[in-house]
Amino acid sequence: MNDQSPYLHPEYETLSREELGRLQLERLQQTLRQCMNSPFYKKRFDEMGLKPEDIRSLEDVRKLPFTTKQDLRDTYPFGMACIPLRQCVRLHSSSGTTGTPTVILHSQKDLDEWANQVARCLWMVGLRPDDVFQNSSGYGMFTGGLGFQYGAERLGMLTVPAAAGNSLRQIKFIRDFGTTAIHAVPSYVTRLHSVMVEQGVDPRKDTKLRVLAIGAEPHSEEQRRRIEQMMGVKAYNSFGMSEMCGPGVGFECQEQNGLHFWEDYYIVEIVNPETLEPVPDGEIGELVLTTLCREAMPLIRYRTRDLTRVLGRSCPCGRNHIRLDRMRGRSDDMIVLRGVNIFPIQIEKILMQFPELGNNYLITLTSEEENDFMIVEVEVANPTDDFRALQNLEKEVRRRIKDEILLTPIVKLVPKGTLPVSEGKAVRVVDKRTVYK
Ligand code: AMP
Ligand code: ZN
Repeated sequence: MNDQSPYLHPEYETLSREELGRLQLERLQQTLRQCMNSPFYKKRFDEMGLKPEDIRSLEDVRKLPFTTKQDLRDTYPFGMACIPLRQCVRLHSSSGTTGTPTVILHSQKDLDEWANQVARCLWMVGLRPDDVFQNSSGYGMFTGGLGFQYGAERLGMLTVPAAAGNSLRQIKFIRDFGTTAIHAVPSYVTRLHSVMVEQGVDPRKDTKLRVLAIGAEPHSEEQRRRIEQMMGVKAYNSFGMSEMCGPGVGFECQEQNGLHFWEDYYIVEIVNPETLEPVPDGEIGELVLTTLCREAMPLIRYRTRDLTRVLGRSCPCGRNHIRLDRMRGRSDDMIVLRGVNIFPIQIEKILMQFPELGNNYLITLTSEEENDFMIVEVEVANPTDDFRALQNLEKEVRRRIKDEILLTPIVKLVPKGTLPVSEGKAVRVVDKRTVYK
């Protein structure tokens, strides 16, 4: 490791597009051969009359079948394993919202690669072995815990498995251990900051914090800027999903111009979720990922349900790995209200533009008689008795949200600390509609 190098793995990070393509094809062919060890893929390929040898170019990816979360559920727990169970050393499971669990298996080599991916991301944003990394995200089945733990250790940092919650203890650790970097979900960072304020701790003066990795849930550019401002740090967007391994799949570089997805590890496609045909660069579609380095449970053309778009394939940082826009959210998170499609992040973007508003908000969808409507509750940043000002603010927030989503919500400003806070991924939408969803 050369601390001066901007790249942890220059041999992969700085490949030209052409070299990346060659490497991807080679790894794809290997992955397809590996997939034939799973009865699930064997059957699916047989049904389509497809053999791994039929894939001769990267364009041929489009001949391959898609894999969905339902496939993972149908084959629960071990039906997609491509190596014997005795060679697997870890599993992560997620229950998702529907309750039917899925399982992701890992071999030791898979875990090593995963740690390399995360270490590469953290190195990219300027972290080095002298840094102290506090992982304030949930451990256990949630991959943000162990994923960052092993990645930060692989880089060589002193790594603190603080886990989520217990903000007073977090702040004590940050100060006593000289923590310079934190990983947490964005909604938890804002919570941590309010406890700092209550305790009279100024993160700029009283801590050595300089880098945050925030991710695991959708958040707007406005929220990121807010977090950077209040914590006095650079905050980098981190994308991960357990089906691919966990964190380390996509991460921003210091340019903060989109998420670099590591194409030596994944083939990235953006497709129209209805036709499943590729969309042109710049157009929003569903992210589809094919793993290239996983042996226990490779996934072919996995439909992530996450909506995003391609921003570019080169970057001033010297990496040519594809850059994707921050996620809009999952197609399942999209709110359809009176026929209008809305992503919670659109509302967040507006709320974050008001310095008078705090960071916590909740969108409730509800029905009265035949009508569905939306209530946006948002905490105010500072206590005030000026009801006139509050009323005007409410009106202005309502107007700006209407401009964005074309529907008029009911806006309620509530005192700080009244809305529920979660230590894991935030719950931003509650749907109580009875008539139509
Ligand atoms: P899980 O693997 O269950 O922890 O969740 C993975 C999902 O979390 C992804 O498919 C995304 O929907 C969401 N997610 C993860 N990272 C981000 C991020 N940086 N921005 C927006 N959504 C994210
Ligand atoms: Zn870059």
